[in-house]
Amino acid sequence: MSTKHYDIVIAGGGMIGTSLAIALAPLGLRVAMVEAIPRKAAAQPSFDDRSTALSRSTQRMFEAMGLWPRIVAASTPIRSIHVSDQGRFGFSHIDAEEQEVEALGYVVINRVLGAVLQDALDALDCVEVICPARITAIELAPGGASAVLDLEEGKQRSLSSDLLIAADGANSAVREMMGITAQKSSYGQRAVIGNLLPEKDIENVAYERFTRHGPLAVLPIADGRAAFVWTVSEDDAERVMALGDDAFLAELQEQFGFRLGAFSKVGKRASYPLVLSKALRLTATRSVLIGNSAHGLHPVSAQGFNLGMRDVAAIVDCIADASVWSQSSEASDSDPAAIAAMLEQYASWRRADQKKLVRFTDGLVKLFGSERRPLRVLRNIAMLGFDLVPGVRSVFAKHTMGLAGRLPRLSRGVPVK
Ligand SMILES: Cc1cc2nc3c(=O)[nH]c(=O)nc-3n(C[C@H](O)[C@H](O)[C@H](O)COP(=O)(O)OP(=O)(O)OC[C@H]3O[C@@H](n4cnc5c(N)ncnc54)[C@H](O)[C@@H]3O)c2cc1C
Repeated sequence: MSTKHYDIVIAGGGMIGTSLAIALAPLGLRVAMVEAIPRKAAAQPSFDDRSTALSRSTQRMFEAMGLWPRIVAASTPIRSIHVSDQGRFGFSHIDAEEQEVEALGYVVINRVLGAVLQDALDALDCVEVICPARITAIELAPGGASAVLDLEEGKQRSLSSDLLIAADGANSAVREMMGITAQKSSYGQRAVIGNLLPEKDIENVAYERFTRHGPLAVLPIADGRAAFVWTVSEDDAERVMALGDDAFLAELQEQFGFRLGAFSKVGKRASYPLVLSKALRLTATRSVLIGNSAHGLHPVSAQGFNLGMRDVAAIVDCIADASVWSQSSEASDSDPAAIAAMLEQYASWRRADQKKLVRFTDGLVKLFGSERRPLRVLRNIAMLGFDLVPGVRSVFAKHTMGLAGRLPRLSRGVPVK
């Protein structure tokens, strides 16, 4: 087996791996991206029928990467977020106008975002996409990283690189091969997703409704339709998925209420297990975790992809500043100590943001999912505080938009080179 050498190998070409490959392009490095599932296959797990709410910081990144005009043309702006608690009077809302921004975020269908990213990737000479190929073994040593790939028809290939970046999702096999444990806890819930037609115009409002069973999000998408992410208990998920369209809509309507009139014309449904996962470390020798391989969140606050994009922005910043590859040659000549220092810088930068988001989303699920009296009282205070305490809404909005804390260049909309 011959071994080709790259500066960087990205394991996983989902939403995060592909975005990283594009973001690295201006640095002129030799990059390979290895993806297990062909991009147009129905089984492609990243670019599927889900909708993703892109935060402001992700928008700025795509602007800096020159992709925003195509993404915004296929997205729907969120001008206001409406938060309510089922069975309780009143609600809270955040407005784009009040926050002095054009939109609080944009909703895009993953498949559509995937097509834009894949086209951009196809236009790059400096990234070699190896797909379908699955990384099945790695070796990490101070001198470099190597990987064995399973190709089609039982063939194999090997690669070596100065740096291996794992973006292979929540069940990351590469993370395990790096010797990093992820702490996982199931929420005992599944997210049922799909889209429908509300009777009333959704008017660019994103609804987050906390129900007895878990959160329900209804988001504006194209053609007057709305995407939903409905959290149901694991025990009930099979029954809910098997319901006929009318019965399904009736149950969903019961949870959401009639704020948008009657729901009709539900599209294809899919469901996802909800698990909180946190990698106990972010780096190993010559390797680093980003995106869902580092952290898997409950979709309640629509932050998983956005958080992963901040990982992308930070690792690109660290790589750009480290000048590790200034003497690039056919073989690895990067200084192990310089790579280790760069990875340590990355890890210490990202730890706080990741921890904060994990705590925030997990806290929301627990606060609003419990019928225990102290938590009920606390969430009433939280809802009230949200509206009454000056600045609380603004701080919440900043986190939702991904603009809190120290931001890397791309997250500020500044091209990396
Ligand atoms: C219902 C739902 C709604 C969501 N809504 C939002 C939202 O509104 N906003 C938001 O920010 N986030 C949202 N998220 C989270 C978001 O979808 C994820 O954070 C994001 O998809 C993570 O992308 P990723 O590329 O890290 O991982 P993945 O999407 O899992 O991609 C991993 C890729 O790696 C490939 N792969 C795996 N193993 C290997 C291997 N050994 N070799 C090669 N390739 C491999 C896979 O085929 C896949 O393409 C939502 C999640 C869910 C479940």
